[in-house]
Amino acid sequence: MSKRALITGLTGQDGAYLAQLLLAKGYEVHGLVRRSASADVIDARLRWLGIAGDIQVHDGNLTDLSSLIRIIRDVKPDEVYNLGAQSFVKSSWQQPLLTGSVTALGGHNMLEAVRLEAPEARIYQASSSEMYGLIQEDVQSEKTPFYPRSPYAVAKLYAHWMTVNYRESFGLHASSGILFNHESPLRGIEFVTRKITDGAARIKLGLEDKLTLGNLDATRDWGHARDFVRAMWLMLQQEEADDYVIATGRTTSVRDFCKMTFSLLDLRMEDHVVVDPRYLRPAEVDVLLGDATKARTKLGWQPECSLEQLVSEMVDADIERIKLQQKH
Ligand code: GDP
Repeated sequence: MSKRALITGLTGQDGAYLAQLLLAKGYEVHGLVRRSASADVIDARLRWLGIAGDIQVHDGNLTDLSSLIRIIRDVKPDEVYNLGAQSFVKSSWQQPLLTGSVTALGGHNMLEAVRLEAPEARIYQASSSEMYGLIQEDVQSEKTPFYPRSPYAVAKLYAHWMTVNYRESFGLHASSGILFNHESPLRGIEFVTRKITDGAARIKLGLEDKLTLGNLDATRDWGHARDFVRAMWLMLQQEEADDYVIATGRTTSVRDFCKMTFSLLDLRMEDHVVVDPRYLRPAEVDVLLGDATKARTKLGWQPECSLEQLVSEMVDADIERIKLQQKH
């Protein structure tokens, strides 16, 4: 019998890549999908990967515990991946309470639904390097103290500790993956990497001339989402649940990411990039750099895609996508 997995955040970047991975491994994949006013675009990423028809979707919402209980009861999952969240840091200052409801209490609701309906299921909580915020150590590992710097990061920290607590209190097989930034052609356009690759592609194709960004000095440890979802799966294959940092161990500034992107397209960022304080944040996370030694030794995980390959894949995909839009 094939294993059954339930994914929240199915229609996001990580949900789509994780669903693809699990389908390839022979899983029966179920996804929680929240009702949306724009239902026609909701499965765009799943369609891009060619797997939209292979997943069983369930109407529900992380903020509605009874819907989670109903879905867990129906699906009887072996593995639950909680990737659903209000995940854009900047928006979390504009919608702090919604962020708390979905990202913090939503995660808690899922733990509670699993505890009540499927206590034998293994559960993965998508935690975030944003929890390190104002970094307390130059390189961040599972032992580094947290210092969240946005309502999003505070909400993620709540769900992280609740995951640890449910493991310790109720014996749930609950693991928390502290994932550093991970990107791909499926990254939302509001995140800086995709904003840059899409913007540079538009400039290359003559559709635009300028790209407006915020803080170019921030640095991030950027990996490929396809590599990172593999780590999620590995965590749930372990005998013991635990917490793991997933990162590449290389940090790059927004400015350098930009330079790499523009030079791939034979453009100069100085000719096109404009800085606008509108994109600055009330509190910034200046530097993130992860130490994934534990994941490497215990899970046998390591990233396969380099930053250069990631940028190149994103740029190629955006050029293709824009050319296709122009045809229609
Ligand atoms: P985050 O690490 O989850 O906040 O991922 P983002 O991709 O949204 O932001 C990464 C970094 O890029 C942050 O330090 C932002 O301040 C910085 N940044 C600079 N300009 C921009 C921009 O125009 N949009 C976004 N999203 N981030 C920007």
